[in-house]
Amino acid sequence: MRDGFGREVDYLRVSLTQRCDLNCLYCGAGCPEGEELTPEQIEILVRAFVKTGVSKVRLTGGEPLLRKDLAEIAARVRAIPGVKTLALTTNGVCLAEKAQALRQAGVDAVNVSLDSLDEEVYRRLTGRNALASVLRGIGAALDAGFQRVRVNAVLIRGENDTQAEKLVDFARDNPVDVRFIELMPFSEQGKNDALVIKAAELLERFPYLTPLPPKNPGESVAKYYTAPGFKGRVGFISPVSEKFCARCSRVRLLSTGEVRPCLAYDTAYDLKPFLNDENRLIEAIEKAIRSKPAGHAFGCDYGNIHAMNKIGG
Ligand code: SAM
Repeated sequence: MRDGFGREVDYLRVSLTQRCDLNCLYCGAGCPEGEELTPEQIEILVRAFVKTGVSKVRLTGGEPLLRKDLAEIAARVRAIPGVKTLALTTNGVCLAEKAQALRQAGVDAVNVSLDSLDEEVYRRLTGRNALASVLRGIGAALDAGFQRVRVNAVLIRGENDTQAEKLVDFARDNPVDVRFIELMPFSEQGKNDALVIKAAELLERFPYLTPLPPKNPGESVAKYYTAPGFKGRVGFISPVSEKFCARCSRVRLLSTGEVRPCLAYDTAYDLKPFLNDENRLIEAIEKAIRSKPAGHAFGCDYGNIHAMNKIGG
């Protein structure tokens, strides 16, 4: 369906948990709150979202691989008629052990968050020595035959911006798209504009990268580049410097059962009271989608934002 600004909202990000096994510097992880939705509740809710026009679903968190019932959730969602793609966003720490089962459960694509290829920098950013596990996880995801394996990296000036070259080389040497996401104000670091490395500045460091035409214009928020001999692409997602809210197609289902129309504002509507009445559930979802704001106001109005773990990155 279209929201109040005529945008087609067809992409649902489902946060399965607020728990996380990392404590990333910029994520501003808060302590988990509220009950997590059960697989049955998630299926009921996603079915209703699909009836409003959602066709793409992403499972995220917190860290979704901490859910022991993740494969069951994935299989239930994948089996819903109308779900065209099911993707997963993970920090990759436990991915090596679960990649095969998740592929078999119907997950089509995986995004792995990886902000450093240097062990010491990775440990400082995330609070854990888990880089080797994450790299094994990416390898396992490639072996499991996901349609797409991507790496998302967030750079913070003075923390891990030295990692950009290694991350671009990772895209050169592996059939993996590496995308740089600009730091957003979901933590004190993100509110300090001096720490944000904008796409234009980063691109200057890689004059040999050439832009690729968008596959489906408007489909992706990332702008992709390549260079001779590269196996993967390099992408830039620039919510701060090149606001793409006018093309926003997403809505979020929080792990506690609220629907959140926009990443940048706290507004959320509890859907749990309608779980036993699909018509009223669809009405509540449609009301939330119609209420989507025009876009964020990063830089001037941070709103009452929460840590990404609570929102579902
Ligand atoms: N735990 C999973 C993971 O690490 O991919 C999924 C949830 S996590 C909140 C999703 C992703 O959101 C992060 O890994 C990071 O790429 C992105 N993210 C978190 N905080 C961010 C911020 N302040 N600015 C930009 N991206 C952020």
